[in-house]
Amino acid sequence: VSSVVTFTVVYDNNAYNHRLRTAWGFACLVEREDVSLLFDTGGDSPTLLSNMAALGIDPTEIDVVVLSHIHGDHTGGLGGLLAVNDHLTVYVPRSFPTRFKERVQALGATLVEVQGPMEIVPGIYSTGEMGRSIIEQSLVVRTPQGLVVVTGCAHPGIVSIVEQARRVGNGPIYLVMGGFHLGGASRAEIARIVDDFRRLEVQKVAPCHCTGTGAMRAFAAEYGEDYIANGAGKAIVVGR
Ligand SMILES: [Zn+2]
Ligand SMILES: [Zn+2]
Repeated sequence: VSSVVTFTVVYDNNAYNHRLRTAWGFACLVEREDVSLLFDTGGDSPTLLSNMAALGIDPTEIDVVVLSHIHGDHTGGLGGLLAVNDHLTVYVPRSFPTRFKERVQALGATLVEVQGPMEIVPGIYSTGEMGRSIIEQSLVVRTPQGLVVVTGCAHPGIVSIVEQARRVGNGPIYLVMGGFHLGGASRAEIARIVDDFRRLEVQKVAPCHCTGTGAMRAFAAEYGEDYIANGAGKAIVVGR
């Protein structure tokens, strides 16, 4: 399998490419020669689809959708995407409400329920369901530089997710991107988490969505050039 992987944030509440719309939520397109996978769908399909159009992304070329968790800011764009793409396979945590799963199938998609860690396509994995109250899965992508972890809201805890990603991908972590969910965290808690990232040998970080400005600043200070400013329209190319 060709090794260049492009990660494009197509929906986020943080601005990066100012031609794109911002709204609360997250979606990231993962493109490799053989597959186009959308991780989360943002909060609404008009924003999602107009951002894709602005970036020249054809929504009918997406093969797979992976939903991190049930919150509307990650699942809200799915219905509108299914309306224009009738050949999607949608991976959801098994704990999703039955009604949600039935609706996805009624709209013509193939549904796959995820419980434990699994390989979605060669070299791209789900961490499996994590967490107790809000169940969430994260994405782990193998690249020549190491693993890339994409998180939705990181409700189960960003450090637990990184640890799980190392087990599932069985290798070093190159990049962690997405929502780290530290908006309400104390300075001490944030400092501990930044230390944990170093201990886990995470090489680069690109936090966005629900990470919070305090945590973003702390990661930027610690990571320097290995901190990647992230938001709607940011594309990160790994593997060349
Ligand atoms: Zn959430
Ligand atoms: Zn969220």
